Amino acid sequence: MTSLAQQFQAHADYQPDALAVDAGRRLIVEALSPILGTEHIPLRDALGRVLADSVISPIDVPPHDNSAMDGYGLRGADLAADGPTRLELVGTALAGQPCAARVGPGQAVRIMTGARLPAGVDTVVMQEAAQADAGSVTLAPGQRAGHNVRRAGEDLKAGQVALAAGRLIRPAELGLIASLGIGEVAVRRRLRVAFFSTGDEVATPGGGACDGQIYDSNRYTLCGMLTRLGCDAIDIGVVRDDPDALETTLREAASVADVVITSGGVSVGDADFTRAMMARLGEVLFWKIAMKPGRPLAFGRLGRDDRAAWMFGLPGNPVAAMVSFYQFVQPALLKLAGVDPLPATPLLQVPCATALRKPAGRTEFLRGVLYPEGGQWRVRTTGAQGSGILSSMADANCFIVLGPQQTAVAAGEPVSVQVLDGLV
Ligand code: AMP
Ligand code: MG
Repeated sequence: MTSLAQQFQAHADYQPDALAVDAGRRLIVEALSPILGTEHIPLRDALGRVLADSVISPIDVPPHDNSAMDGYGLRGADLAADGPTRLELVGTALAGQPCAARVGPGQAVRIMTGARLPAGVDTVVMQEAAQADAGSVTLAPGQRAGHNVRRAGEDLKAGQVALAAGRLIRPAELGLIASLGIGEVAVRRRLRVAFFSTGDEVATPGGGACDGQIYDSNRYTLCGMLTRLGCDAIDIGVVRDDPDALETTLREAASVADVVITSGGVSVGDADFTRAMMARLGEVLFWKIAMKPGRPLAFGRLGRDDRAAWMFGLPGNPVAAMVSFYQFVQPALLKLAGVDPLPATPLLQVPCATALRKPAGRTEFLRGVLYPEGGQWRVRTTGAQGSGILSSMADANCFIVLGPQQTAVAAGEPVSVQVLDGLV
């Protein structure tokens, strides 16, 4: 197996001590391949899962020519070139009910939305343009042949790929698969992700904290972020700053999971013993990312064979841990989970309410609030931006992303924004 370091060194933009955010994300994603293992599950349970096989439509959708309107079905050739058209009524076609009527020249049927077109019908005129009396209907001038009908297979043809393997199943995909009459789907198995916190000062909420301790928040944000991504989140707890305890826990985590995520213990001071210990377990690289918050990041694998687990060591500061997760770990987990193509995170350009400053050379992820004002959207920061101020994440609905070249933003100037919550 080629070492990760060798693999990365081939890239011109691989600078472990000042790695650009985009380069780091690309290197990580390229190093990973989707996990194997699929399962067949009922469609109802498939929300948030990833299709393992393409869904091929077994039927035409819609399955038959049908009416798009409530109105009258007729032969387009019967429509008068100018003036009204009067036709004899020979029956009614209701959705889901057989209609034996055959519509000949000069004839029409009353027809409802979704009803199969009776023989002879190629056009529907909506009822608002029609005047019916006993036995006949008069259509207003200006109706068009072929209108208001939905053709069999116009959405999907039998044998066509309805959804390609790799698609993440959202409510629309659930509905689309259901519309094909399919009740069970092949999905990738869930990714197993084990995570733990490190630090003598870190105490678990609910248990009380000694003097000098702080409560663990990273395990809670991680559990939330992993659950949102559809992973099996395996909480391993808090590990003391002790090499033996760390090694035992890492081995245990790697044996049960595809991915191990730690937080804390990767800053310059701590990295020394961690580095030596991880080198024994596999291969872990320690990077300084040119970003704020979230400079230190460890990435690698624990174990040396095909069953090795991937590892991410996130910074301990709560905001840095979250920002690093969203920028590096999330795309990596999606790739491992088999999502293909990987979704691009939209960067919107939004006027910034206040002036901003930063040094050149690093990417900054400010926590922001998008809000409407005077008919357009604006963005402001949440206030204090320290990498430990978790309320800045809780108050935010977006990241303001300032690129490495940017140094000053004037009030009213557009900035790049990543929205945190989506509609679906
Ligand atoms: P470290 O990277 O271990 O040096 O930690 C950096 C900062 O993050 C320190 O102030 C830690 O106390 C804090 N920190 C580390 N882990 C956690 C955690 N799980 N929850 C909250 N804060 C943490
Ligand atoms: Mg620590």
